Formats: sequence, C-alpha cells, structure tokens
Amino acid sequence: LFSLDGKAVLVTGGSRGIGAACAKLLAERGATVAITYSKTAERAEALVEEIESAGGSAFAVAADAGDAEAVKAGVARVLERFGGYLDILVNNAGIAEPGLIGEQDAAIFERQMNINIRGVWSTTSATVASMRDDGRIINIGSFFSERVTVPGISAYAMTKHAVAGLTKGWARDLAARRITVNTVEPGSIETEANPDEGARAAMVKAMIPLGRYGQPAEVAELVAFLASRAAGYINGAQILIDGGMLA
Ligand code: NDP
Repeated sequence: LFSLDGKAVLVTGGSRGIGAACAKLLAERGATVAITYSKTAERAEALVEEIESAGGSAFAVAADAGDAEAVKAGVARVLERFGGYLDILVNNAGIAEPGLIGEQDAAIFERQMNINIRGVWSTTSATVASMRDDGRIINIGSFFSERVTVPGISAYAMTKHAVAGLTKGWARDLAARRITVNTVEPGSIETEANPDEGARAAMVKAMIPLGRYGQPAEVAELVAFLASRAAGYINGAQILIDGGMLA
C-alpha cells in the first residue's frame, strides 16, 4: 500500500531542504525521482549520487520555476527521460522574502509571485497531460495560508493562499482520472531557508507546542504517504505539519 515501486516522480526545487528530503524518501520507497533546481547544479548532482549510491534511481534537471520557458524545457527533458509519462508531481520550489507593506520592493513581490505561484501553475500545466491515472500532485504550501502569525510575511502568505486555491480547483479538475491533489502545509522546518538558530528561532520555538523546529525528513514522510496508494481518498486537502503551532 505504501510502496512507490515503478513510479515516475518530479520534485521541483529538490537540491536541498524539504525537496531533497522528499526526493530521498520517495526514491527509497521505489520511485525514480527527477529533481529540478535553478542555481545549485552541484548540490543537485551530489544528491543524485547519494540516492543512487543508496540503491535508488534519480536524475537532476535545471528548471527555474520562475521562468515559464525554462519550466517547459525542463519538464520536456524530464518526460523524455521517463518515456513520456509521470505519476507523482511534488511542487516544492519556493522562496520567502519578508518585507512590510510600504517597504517591500515590487521586484521582491513579483519574484515570489513568479516562483511560488506561476512556477506551480506552469509546472503542473506542462505535466498534467502526461500524468497517468491514479497520479498524485502534492503542493508544498505553508501554515501561513491558514494564519499569518507574524508581520512582514504578507506577500509570501498570499502566494501560499494561492497554492491552496489551485489545489482545491485541480482536485476537482483531475478527479475523473483519480489524480489526487493536496497541499502539505509545513510549519517551521529546519532548512537553509529557515535555520534553527538565534533569537528569531527561539521566539518561533516558543510558539510551537512541541518546542522544536520540524525536520525536512518529517515533511517527506507525509509527502510519501500522500503519494502512496494508501492515501487514495485524500483529495483537495490542506494538511498542516507544524508541531501544533496553529492548534
Ligand atoms: P530551501 O531554500 O532550503 O530549498 C529550496 C530548494 O528549491 C532548493 O533546492 C533550491 O535550489 C530550489 N529553488 C529555489 N528557487 C527555485 C527556482 N526558482 N526554481 C527551481 N528551484 C528553485 O527551501 P525549503 O526547503 O525551506 O522550502 C521548500 C518549500 O517549502 C518552499 O516552497 C517553502 O515555501 C516551503 N516551506 C518551507 C518552510 C520552512 O520552514 N522551511 C515552511 C513552510 C513552507 P536552487 O537554489 O538551485 O534553485
């Protein structure tokens, strides 16, 4: 029920952090995993080597999620490697650039729109026709689409609300093919984008009932479950994984 043997998977933004943890675990469960990145080719290749030396199967493709043409070209390469089909898409690539309204640069707003919303839309648009029945789309959203708990995060929170909206709509669009679409909403997860250090991290941890940051591997466990046959009736959902922060 939980095996991903023979599945063709694409994880966007998979060279480090949550995406890398998902790529590793999905490969461990039997899938062949394509990962994308925008800048860190060496990190992506190192991860591919790590997966392959553990007996898994993976490859990396450059595809800047904020550039629609690059996404199209990257997805075409991935589909070619898979022989024209895909089973599981994890839309993970995303950035967070804080700023208070009135102080935030328009370029920063646009960058988050491009990567976090347009990237999810263009990757899914380019893959969905090639997705086999019983497929899975798992969008990595954020707990900020449930509650905006701190100032300075409005544009990022907006992009993750948009991801939740796309999820619900696509869950209806694709249900006839038994392709389920869900949003995973992490709380504070320890990655290079959100390091567990300093006064800010201490303040964040004080808000989390479990008193600690989550690990990328813990988010990957949820993603792997949603990707499996066991999760076939979960569709259109937003699933928090936040240590109880919003409880
Ligand atoms: P990291 O910054 O640690 O890793 C991001 C990954 O995405 C890297 O592999 C990076 O590679 C890639 N990436 C970044 N920009 C692009 C792009 N334009 N095109 C393709 N790939 C890209 O981030 P996290 O692992 O922390 O976050 C992953 C996702 O989880 C994001 O969507 C984030 O919003 C979400 N999230 C994270 C939380 C956290 O606390 N960490 C909490 C809630 C949600 P490269 O630099 O080479 O492009």
